[in-house]
Amino acid sequence: MNRRGEFDVIVVGAGVVGAATALALVREGFEVALVETRPPPCWDARDDVDPRVVALAADAVGLLEELGVWPAIARARASAYQRMRIWDALAPGELQFDAADRGEAALGWIVENRLLQHMLWQALAEPVDGSRAARLSCPAEVASIENEADGVAAMLADGTRLRARLLIAADGAMSPIRTQLGIATRDRDYAQRAIVAHVDTERAHESTAWQRFQPGGPLAFLPLADGRSSIVWSLPSAEAERLLALDEAAFRGELGCAFDFRLGAITATTSRLSFPLRMRLAERYVDGRCVLVGDAAHAVHPLAGQGLNLGLRDARNLRDQLLRAKARNSDIGASHVLRRYERERRSENTLAANSFSLIESAFDSGSTAIAGLRGVALALANRLPPVKRLLGDAAAGRL
Ligand SMILES: Cc1cc2nc3c(=O)[nH]c(=O)nc-3n(C[C@H](O)[C@H](O)[C@H](O)COP(=O)(O)OP(=O)(O)OC[C@H]3O[C@@H](n4cnc5c(N)ncnc54)[C@H](O)[C@@H]3O)c2cc1C
Repeated sequence: MNRRGEFDVIVVGAGVVGAATALALVREGFEVALVETRPPPCWDARDDVDPRVVALAADAVGLLEELGVWPAIARARASAYQRMRIWDALAPGELQFDAADRGEAALGWIVENRLLQHMLWQALAEPVDGSRAARLSCPAEVASIENEADGVAAMLADGTRLRARLLIAADGAMSPIRTQLGIATRDRDYAQRAIVAHVDTERAHESTAWQRFQPGGPLAFLPLADGRSSIVWSLPSAEAERLLALDEAAFRGELGCAFDFRLGAITATTSRLSFPLRMRLAERYVDGRCVLVGDAAHAVHPLAGQGLNLGLRDARNLRDQLLRAKARNSDIGASHVLRRYERERRSENTLAANSFSLIESAFDSGSTAIAGLRGVALALANRLPPVKRLLGDAAAGRL
């Protein structure tokens, strides 16, 4: 805080994207206030794997390495996957990616959201190399904000007033800050829910991320370190409700069948959770001295497992823009600084979100003609090295 009681940056929301953004800025010497509604997540190695896991691409892991938190996460519980198999329920043809073909150790890592958040919060509380800790207000809620010419103020529900040169909203897909700023969103309701659970299978998962597209939505099996797989099963909402209501044996039967028994029978499952699926893209990322990152800016379909990866790219890009401004002695909340971040990130995020929507629609169709085209496209993509490499790079976050 400077002599006028101001921070450089206020970050609202300390989910993975907000916590990573705050840590990236703290590491560069920025003074950061971080506000989060929910108490810190607890993670304990003795607990079962949390139901919410994400597939992290190499560049996301690179950022976590830069921030110094990846070694602890990898030691705690992360599962590297070396292969990816994607196929269609209605057509022949399979797309295969192999880390070895790309000269890499892994295509990505499966990690619990809770573990990521826990390690980021721990790092925020333990500053290194003389950087100061972020000022963390939790549980606390930003009730209102005031965009002023030379700064931005955030009023917390308990009456505390924080002031900074820039406010970063990392407050999730429903983003109250985005609403307060009057930033409109372009939404698509997929009328689907994603069922998540961890399952035991008859055969080993082979450190492979599997995805089967079928009319209604994709079904992914992500390999966990303990030999189980974590499923993300996107389905029309009514069908998801039906499956959620089944007893365990009936659910295992339907799941095995939907997965083509690729790993044999499903022998056990944890309890099931489900999430409604909706694309929500902010029409702009900047308002005065406020800027959106992560799901607050772009909530996308989970079929490509990219939502958090995109959010972490926002965090890295914004940090780099602020560092550049700082090196030039420019105002970090100036419009041209924030607009540059918006230009660079909004185009990639929008393209990604629309591509996932397009893939979802193309694979959702039960028409045999369209299924035939999909089969040809998968087989061709698999046999054309440049196309395959491009798709592999996109999946690994290297484009
Ligand atoms: C089924 C499913 C599977 C997925 N799989 C993957 C995957 O494999 N790979 C991947 O990259 N992504 C995946 N995603 C997407 C990923 O989970 C999200 O993109 C990511 O969690 C968003 O993080 P965030 O920090 O932006 O938002 P959130 O995690 O929503 O965090 C927002 C935070 O802001 C806080 N907050 C809200 N309002 C306020 C306020 N007024 N004041 C203070 N704090 C506030 C909230 O309490 C919360 O902690 C998946 C999503 C789903 C639904």
